[in-house]
Amino acid sequence: MRKLKGATIEESRILLYKRQKGLCWYCRQPCRLPLEGSVADHGRDTFTLDYILPLSQGGTSKMGNLVGCCRRCNVAKGAKVLPPALLNLVR
Ligand SMILES: [Zn+2]
Repeated sequence: MRKLKGATIEESRILLYKRQKGLCWYCRQPCRLPLEGSVADHGRDTFTLDYILPLSQGGTSKMGNLVGCCRRCNVAKGAKVLPPALLNLVR
């Protein structure tokens, strides 16, 4: 993975998408990858990047600290920052 050093977030996302065969890291559902530079949105099936260790806790943007997951899971995992009322809507 050394050659991935310096990969942009977008490159990391494409690489993770391929490595995970388009499946969400958490729920294993197939995700859809937005085209590079595109603002196209696939809603909850959008392939997003998640930090294993959040940046706020000293995590990095390197591949080893990233997993790809659908937005559904990304939102669920980040739900602790959402008010409980919103949490119910996400589910
Ligand atoms: Zn998922």
